[in-house]
Formats: sequence, C-alpha cells, structure tokens
Amino acid sequence: MTYDSWLQCSEGCEWRLEVTEVIYRCPECGGLLEVGHDVDALRRRSGAAWMRLFDDRYMRTEYPYGSGVWGKKELVYPGVRNENVVSIHEGGSNLFWAERLGKSIGLDDLWIKQSGNSHSGSFKDLGITVLVSAVRQIISGGGGIKAVVCASTGDTSASLSAYCAAAGIPSVVLLPRDKISPAQLIQPISNGAITLALDTDFDGCMALVEKLVEDRRFYLANSINPLRIEGQKTVSIEIVQQFDWEAPDWVIVPGGNLGNVAAVGLGFLMMRDLDIIKKLPRLVCAQAANANPLYLSYLDGFRSFEPVVAEQTLASAIQIGNPVSARKAVSILKEFDGVVEQATEDELADASARADRTGLFTCPQTGVVLAALLKLVDNRTIGPKDRVILISTANGLKFVDFKVGYHTEQLPGIVSRFGNNPVELPNDIDSVLGAIKAAG
Ligand SMILES: *Cc1c(COP(=O)(O)O)cnc(C)c1O
Ligand SMILES: [Zn+2]
Repeated sequence: MTYDSWLQCSEGCEWRLEVTEVIYRCPECGGLLEVGHDVDALRRRSGAAWMRLFDDRYMRTEYPYGSGVWGKKELVYPGVRNENVVSIHEGGSNLFWAERLGKSIGLDDLWIKQSGNSHSGSFKDLGITVLVSAVRQIISGGGGIKAVVCASTGDTSASLSAYCAAAGIPSVVLLPRDKISPAQLIQPISNGAITLALDTDFDGCMALVEKLVEDRRFYLANSINPLRIEGQKTVSIEIVQQFDWEAPDWVIVPGGNLGNVAAVGLGFLMMRDLDIIKKLPRLVCAQAANANPLYLSYLDGFRSFEPVVAEQTLASAIQIGNPVSARKAVSILKEFDGVVEQATEDELADASARADRTGLFTCPQTGVVLAALLKLVDNRTIGPKDRVILISTANGLKFVDFKVGYHTEQLPGIVSRFGNNPVELPNDIDSVLGAIKAAG
C-alpha cells in the first residue's frame, strides 16, 4: 500500500504541491505551509494494525525502518524512496521514570523523554533526517540544489551539518556570534559545513537566511520548512508507543521558534485520527522569561501575538523573540487545552541543577521545562497522580559552560542553591578525610 502526502497552505488556501517543491510560504496568503496526508487512506488500516506495524519495526535493523522516525514512514513522508532516506538511526531515545525527582516534588508518575540522546545531541535530528532526505530526493530528480542553509541557535546547525555530511550534500549555517555554546559551534565546523558566525542574534540570522533562499538553489532548513515538523511529530508517537500505546496526561516542551510544540501536538492528533489513542494529553509550552512572546500572548488569552526582542538567556537554544511558528503553536495549544509557563534565569538554573542531583544531566532548555513543572505542581494545575512527560530537548554535555558556571558560582545574578564546588586539596590523606567529613 502506498500513501500520498503533499505541501499545502496551513491557513486553508486551496492548492497542493509535491513535497519536493522548493517553496516555503503560501503564494496566495503568505502563510506557512504544512504537509497534508491522505488520512482516509491511512484510516483503512486499523489502529491496532498500525501499532503492530510500528512495534515490529521499532529499533530493528531493516533500513530505514529501525529509526524512530522512519519506522513511522507512512505518517511522515511516504513518498520518499528508501534509497534517498538519510538516516543515522534517529529517535528510539529513552523514556525513563524520574522516580526520585518526581517524589521530591510530589509527583508519582514523572517521566523524562531524553530526546537529546541522539546523533547530534538534540531532538533536531528527528526533523532534519526528513528534510535532508527530501533534498536527496530533489537532487536525484535533477533538482539543482547547491547547498542546504539554516539560521540556528546551535542545535539545528549541528544536526543539519551532520546529516548533510552523511549524504555528501553541502551545508551553510548562520549563527549568532558568541551566543551559542562552544560544543554547538564545533559540531558544524567538524562536519565541514560553511560556518558563518554573525554579529547579530538568531532573529537577525534568520532574516539573512530568508534573503539567501530567494535563490532556490539554496534549500531552507529552518522550521518554517514543514518537513522538519513531520519528523519531529514522531516523538509523540514514540512516547505513546513506549507506554504500550497509552497517552499520558501532560507533555511539557520548551518553546523558542515554536515548531516543536506544534509538532508534538500534530503527532497526538494524527494518532487520534488513526484510532491509536482516544484521549489527548494536555500540552505545556515553557519559555525563558527573557524570550517569552508566547507566554505574554497566553496571558492575554491568545488574543494577540507580539514579537519581542529576546534578551540573553542561559537557555540559548530558545532565545528567540519572533517565533516563526507562533500561529501553528497557538492553534495547537488551544486544541490541547494548553498552558504556557515561563522561567527566569535563576529558576531555570536551579531547576536544572536540582534535577541533576537525581541523576540527570540537563541542558538549560530542559531547566526551563523543569522550572515550569515546579510552578504547575505548586499551583496544582498538575496533580500528584498525573502522568507527566517532560521532553528534554538536548544533551546536557552540549552546555558544559552553563554547568561549570553554575557550580563555580560564576553565573551573574544567579544564586547557586544546588551548587557543588570542587574542593581543592594538598596531596595527603588527612586533608581528604577532613574534606569528606566536612562535606557529609
Ligand atoms: C530548537 C530547540 C528548542 C526549541 O524548539 P522550537 O521548535 O524552536 O520551539 C528547544 N530546546 C533545544 C535544545 C533546541 O535545540
Ligand atoms: Zn494560503
């Protein structure tokens, strides 16, 4: 059975184009695009049959179906030929019961989805694999793509450069100078991307990339490109699969450009359409208080949405003031009875360190999500028995400077309540014993 998918306007204009068409906005209304699927055809297979198929493929070796994304190929990009799929076995990340952390804040059923345990260290791999596969499909059809380009707060560029290098396709990444972590910067450099560090912020890089892709030989990899969202939505399917096909009560994600919160929602909606789940979870989007346009809109009942100039935040991957997917995110949040929370620098740093004390090693964006969780438990929005899934978006090892700064009390304006400064000692056993005693 083959299924169909296509590009369409997310605002409802009546047209359809091939997924391989190089176009990012609706020619009629200027709105964002989305990928449409033939849901009627997909529904001809029962929910139970889909679950069986996905379980048969999950984490197995038959290429490319062992990938958490490509195991759901029919729901993602059915038309891509398998020889064009560029997969590094993305997805399949662990979902674990954060027992001690949960108990310490009064939750019995708190789970962390470790999306950062991935090839390039963030969830971005889920979407980039789909996008770069589409590029290979375009190139194999004779389309003259010179390079794939993106603006990035660090993780998109890391992922894009890895997948492009794996496929032998050139990539160009535009980064805000001194606003991403050294680990994130060295990734595209190592993978051979043309790496451009600019004297501006993410929003400035994005504006330049939009100019660059007026030349259609430069293919756009930012999440304005709906192919990314198609891959990212599989995280929801994978979470439900990991619970033997049961939907949780809450899912919390950090929000910057707001593509991911929209993607997470789409994954659940698709499962509901295919009779895989009956109920939808509630969604929470957590923003840094220094880059919080969605939070401000939420306070206003989503009546308006005003971009802000994002201030510096330790959660650098979500330091975005003018999120491209704002409209998609708002419509998803409305459908999921959604909540938006925010976290100050002090709150996110402490929440991150507190979680680390229970065995995690959290990135600052995950710190934002954790701080939001603490607030929602405190104000009883989230109940003690609710099953809560917290999506950790990047590997903490990408943000070692943040960790070192916290524990050595070097982060300006932050009181390191959970700091654990290393003790420097002379080389003798009495000093060692003394230090252990003093610490205990
Ligand atoms: C990209 C990114 C986000 C934000 O995702 P959006 O889709 O831009 O909202 C959050 N955390 C990390 C680690 C990221 O790389
Ligand atoms: Zn339109």
